[in-house]
Amino acid sequence: MLELDGITIKWLGHDSMKIKGDKVIYIDPWKLKDTEPADIVLITHDHYDHCSPEDVARVTKKGTVVVGAADVGKKFKKEDFRVVKAGDRVTINGVTVEAVPAYNTNKQFHPRASGWVGYIVTMKGKRIYHAGDTDHIPEMEGMKDIDVALVPVSGTYVMTAEEAAQAVNKMRPKIAVPMHYGDIVGTKADAERFKKLAQVEVRII
Ligand code: ZN
Ligand code: ZN
Repeated sequence: MLELDGITIKWLGHDSMKIKGDKVIYIDPWKLKDTEPADIVLITHDHYDHCSPEDVARVTKKGTVVVGAADVGKKFKKEDFRVVKAGDRVTINGVTVEAVPAYNTNKQFHPRASGWVGYIVTMKGKRIYHAGDTDHIPEMEGMKDIDVALVPVSGTYVMTAEEAAQAVNKMRPKIAVPMHYGDIVGTKADAERFKKLAQVEVRII
């Protein structure tokens, strides 16, 4: 768990995160043990370990808004879902959410054409970036003033620890948090290697 100015960021395993401040936001909820009801659920893309309608259902209450790309929306009730594409900035339940690009550059698992995304959430003036499943892409350099960057480090489907370190060394978030390890692919050793190579503060949470 990471705490900063009244916001807590809890890693729920793999790419699953809960951000709690004024509101409760889950990103890519999967294999949930924590089922506190959500105001917003953000889904990065349509892979089963990121988009789990069963887990989303467990944290859905009246008024919960689920956000994702159009193909993700097919798995949810239309009235609860908000379709986004990279570049969109929307305000949902009082929280500003930007959808940003996420795609592979040296492998085929997440083609750019899929339109899958990461997110920048602004809560209590803090900008929290969840990268989704991505490589180190040029668009990251345009992401300014990130307080916390949640980045994948496992390699195989996403950035390796080395690539993720290069990404944050250019992006310069105040704090970087490794994710996408400990299930399916990647281990704590990847997170540790990322920490060693990154020139920004890294918190393994
Ligand atoms: Zn994926
Ligand atoms: Zn993944």
